Amino acid sequence: MNEEAAIRAAIVEAMIRLDASGLNQGTSGNVSVRFGEGLLVTPSGIPCEALRPEDIVRMGMDGTALGRLAPSSEWRFHRDILAARPEIGAVVHAHPPHATAFAICRRDIPAAHYMIAAAGGPTIRCARYATFGTQALSDAALEALQDRQACLLANHGMITAGPSLARALWLAVEVETLCRQYALALGIGEPVLLPEDEIARVVQAFRTYGPREAEPGGPAAGIPVSDLARGEASS
Ligand code: 13P
Ligand code: ZN
Repeated sequence: MNEEAAIRAAIVEAMIRLDASGLNQGTSGNVSVRFGEGLLVTPSGIPCEALRPEDIVRMGMDGTALGRLAPSSEWRFHRDILAARPEIGAVVHAHPPHATAFAICRRDIPAAHYMIAAAGGPTIRCARYATFGTQALSDAALEALQDRQACLLANHGMITAGPSLARALWLAVEVETLCRQYALALGIGEPVLLPEDEIARVVQAFRTYGPREAEPGGPAAGIPVSDLARGEASS
């Protein structure tokens, strides 16, 4: 499979996953991936069960579209985010219930959980309201995404972005989870928020977090995994 065909298939898969995980429903949401000098973006108004790889629309950064179907009505913010942020390779837009509920209340998400650092800082901003599909919405989103990889869209939904589609999709699930946790905590009482310097430490720690080779002589080096599982290496 060539690179373009692989990206088209991955975009269809991403739309199916967003729908299956409850982050989108019907024809809400859209996905784009940087490709060559432009982008590949979902077509407008096609539910994921009817979406085929050949329906994905190829666009130039000047807004010209190549394809049988019209691009997503939100192609402007997809194009503008990819054009303004060279580190971003993919953009996911969804209408998940909890994130959208906060967006309806026009509330930024504060540092209620350390995982907010995955979006780049101590808050996830809610962009000011603008009609869907407009340049005004794109301008508002770009502003709210400054130094961040996620934002809410007032009375609408959320955007996540990342170096890869897998990362942007993962972040969409994380942000919705964070919003669900924060909503539950607000229902229980008064959430205790983490200070900015702690989120800065977590942002730093995330740079090296993940499965990796053990460091020679580092923590637990040389201890058989079976002993670790029995807790014999805890002292
Ligand atoms: P499209 O079907 O045009 O991508 O629109 C869905 C949407 O979420 C608009 O904000
Ligand atoms: Zn939308």
